[in-house]
Amino acid sequence: MTSKTNLTINPQRLWDSLMGTAKFGGTPKGGIKRLTVSDEDRQVRDWFKAECETLGCTVEVDEVGNMFATRPGKRKDIAPIAMGSHLDTQPTGGKFDGVLGVLGALEAMRTLADMGYETNAPIMIVNWTNEEGSRFAPAMLCSGVYAGVFTTGFAYSREDRQGIKLGDELERIGYKGKHKAGDIKFQAMFELHIEQGPVLEAENKMIGVVTGVQGMRWYEVTVRGQESHTGATPMGLRKNALLGASRMIEAIHQVGMNHLPGVASVGLIENRPNSRNVVPGEVFFTVDLRHPDEKVLDKMEAEYQAALPKIAAGLGLDLEEKRIWISPAVKFAPNLIECVREGAKQAGLTMREMASGAGHDAAYIARVAPTTMIFVPCLGGISHNEAESTTLEECGAGSQVLLNAVLAYDGKLA
Ligand SMILES: [Zn+2]
Repeated sequence: MTSKTNLTINPQRLWDSLMGTAKFGGTPKGGIKRLTVSDEDRQVRDWFKAECETLGCTVEVDEVGNMFATRPGKRKDIAPIAMGSHLDTQPTGGKFDGVLGVLGALEAMRTLADMGYETNAPIMIVNWTNEEGSRFAPAMLCSGVYAGVFTTGFAYSREDRQGIKLGDELERIGYKGKHKAGDIKFQAMFELHIEQGPVLEAENKMIGVVTGVQGMRWYEVTVRGQESHTGATPMGLRKNALLGASRMIEAIHQVGMNHLPGVASVGLIENRPNSRNVVPGEVFFTVDLRHPDEKVLDKMEAEYQAALPKIAAGLGLDLEEKRIWISPAVKFAPNLIECVREGAKQAGLTMREMASGAGHDAAYIARVAPTTMIFVPCLGGISHNEAESTTLEECGAGSQVLLNAVLAYDGKLA
């Protein structure tokens, strides 16, 4: 029998598949426009299905278009080990976001097939429908349906800007499958993805061992003072809403600094009336707090909510503040994380533990199956951009660690 240490993926073959499939929706600037459930998406799905079938996989599709390609293992009594991500892109997307996770998995599957390697569990590749949420909101829609976060009816009813429904488009491109979402089971899922941030590159590390996804909380704040003439209102008699907001923004920044690696951001601000000779009477702004640990996020929230009224009171301003959205922190499965660490060590690669700053299909799947992620660097941390860039070597490293991690997990199932 082939020992798992002999299984080496072919980085050039992976690269050729990445570049070859980039023509399905390829843009003049070298990116990809492959909106979910479009004609281009159908082309890449057809290609992916044919490739998997060549390797002896059975390809099944569920009712929301999620694709599951399965290669049998020695044991028929246990569920597959899955590797999954997404083949859809943003309108001006790059060649790696999502795609690397599916094609890196395909390369791992090709390696198993080449060597005739028999795993204990069946091995599966999943292509999740509409991760991006660009054509049909929200993002991570169909992994969400799989995990029971959204209903199938809700997914079908999502409309794009032309008023075309997701359900109708799935039908049109031939990817509305017969399996109920959630019925095609797996016992664990590994998702390989580009980091979409600058940390690995900055620290010169090859593999991100992802321990979870940050919790996120969004708030809206309105600060009210008094509009008055800038020339005629003495400094001591002003109720300047913008001055209050600026001090609040400083305080919010400090909340992030106090709880690193937490982040605290104000990204949108509206100043009223926004006129050069009027003391601002009202300011609206948004707040985005994130941290991998919910307990720390609680502290950040408490600190932020304590700071604002003090600032408002000091300037004679009224304050309205509310939380509008939360996405709880996700902790990935420790035994899968250990497999990734082992896999990276086995491949002799540098690594670092990190939490994902962005949402991924894995975040929803973690609710229904043990899940984790593997990150590789991307140039300048740039993503959702046609200039997105990850090297052949980095893509190969990710695919190798994915295969090693799956085999490490599978080794315990004999
Ligand atoms: Zn992605």
